[in-house]
Amino acid sequence: MTSSETPTCSAKGCRDAAVWVLAWNNPKLHAPERRKTWLACEEHREHLSQFLGVRGFLKDVVKLDEWVQPEGSER
Ligand SMILES: [Zn+2]
Repeated sequence: MTSSETPTCSAKGCRDAAVWVLAWNNPKLHAPERRKTWLACEEHREHLSQFLGVRGFLKDVVKLDEWVQPEGSER
């Protein structure tokens, strides 16, 4: 990862700096230990969490500066 790049929110059309990491997993597509991640700004955290939550995909919501990318996971 290039250090000069500020991670931005994954919400469509949003260019805000990401504050949260949403870790999720689609059991139909991914092995149970796999984690996909979305980034969210303060404003979109709830929206994105709900999107994943209603589908049963959401596993974890962690502050970006506390997030440690698990081995073998990807964005
Ligand atoms: Zn956003």
